[in-house]
Amino acid sequence: MMNRIYLDANAGAPLLPEVREAVIAALGEASNPSSIHAEGRRARALVENARAVIAAAVGAKAENVTFTSGATEAAALALSPRLIAGRDIVTAGRLYVGATEHPCVLSGGRFPASRVTKVPVTRSGAIDLNALESLLQRNDSADGPPYLALMLANNETGVIHVVADAARLVKAHGGFVFCDAVQGLGRIPVDIGALGVDFLSLTAHKLGGPQGVGALILADEALRPEPLMAGGGQERRRRPGTENVIAIVGFSVAARQAVDHLSDMGRIADLRAGLERQILATSPEAKIVGSGSERLANTTMFAVPGVSGETAVIAFDLEGIAVSAGSACSSGKVAGSHVLEAMGEPAEISRSGVRVSLTRAATAADIEAFATAWRAIHSRMRQSRAA
Ligand code: PLP
Repeated sequence: MMNRIYLDANAGAPLLPEVREAVIAALGEASNPSSIHAEGRRARALVENARAVIAAAVGAKAENVTFTSGATEAAALALSPRLIAGRDIVTAGRLYVGATEHPCVLSGGRFPASRVTKVPVTRSGAIDLNALESLLQRNDSADGPPYLALMLANNETGVIHVVADAARLVKAHGGFVFCDAVQGLGRIPVDIGALGVDFLSLTAHKLGGPQGVGALILADEALRPEPLMAGGGQERRRRPGTENVIAIVGFSVAARQAVDHLSDMGRIADLRAGLERQILATSPEAKIVGSGSERLANTTMFAVPGVSGETAVIAFDLEGIAVSAGSACSSGKVAGSHVLEAMGEPAEISRSGVRVSLTRAATAADIEAFATAWRAIHSRMRQSRAA
């Protein structure tokens, strides 16, 4: 088989060997962590050790970590108009969502569509704080306090949002803040207190952990969303259902590795700079999307006007390289990326995005292989357009 090169970390990072080992060991252990016998207590210890690790990774208290089936469920849980504040229920009036959020947040969770407002981003993809401030000023407080959902870093472009600044604005209006930190952990420091948000979501599979496990983390146990499902009293009554012990163990090992290896991002930034130089040398007409903003060191989204992102991704795949398109193909039509559209890009760019996202294991040889493949693909595309 051809030697494959995997440059799609933002879609999912390959399972780390340390995670595989820990998961295999846990397979022999897993009993129901709610059982009081010795086997159950051993499973409970695995879950609670993992909880402490995840909490430490984001500067939270262990008891404020709620395990979920991933970041989609964490967002669905967080985005409830009804919040439990101590013994009271507070009802948020309107949900404000960043225009470039992941679809699991953009959908507004349990807020009716009529109570969801998008907050625009600038041409470089950063949240528009002036627009947010004027939306908050116009927010009708009679409906209830405002609620903002803003991601830490965008999955398509890598653009990092000024979440702490946005959270300060919302707090000045007595509101609540949820942050999807899925793409941030292991790439930039993540601290729930420094961000000033109420709720934060993570998922394991972006970190080299297993798929189907994530967490919603509360800043303070006194404020939590109403549960999404009815059932048992697991996870401090925040999320019913027997915990996925094996996956939770894998998640914690991946999170610890992500935090311990944060300093690798300096090397990854150098590789990314080389990658972008090579892209522009081969295709000076290409646009590096979001390059005017601070970005995750591992992510490049580039677009060549008029070249479908999907076509480019298939061509890379045939060359043995896994990357992603920013746009998705539905019913035969290539739709533009909502992220690029929100940044004001025309259709010829928003349908052309190709995302390259490096894992910590990326090497200079991977970048060279990508550059060689791009030279071949670009020249073929130019020839076929000229024909
Ligand atoms: N949020 C962001 C920014 C993501 O990139 C993803 C993954 O695609 C998700 C949320 C959803 O995560 P999960 O697949 O764990 O539901």
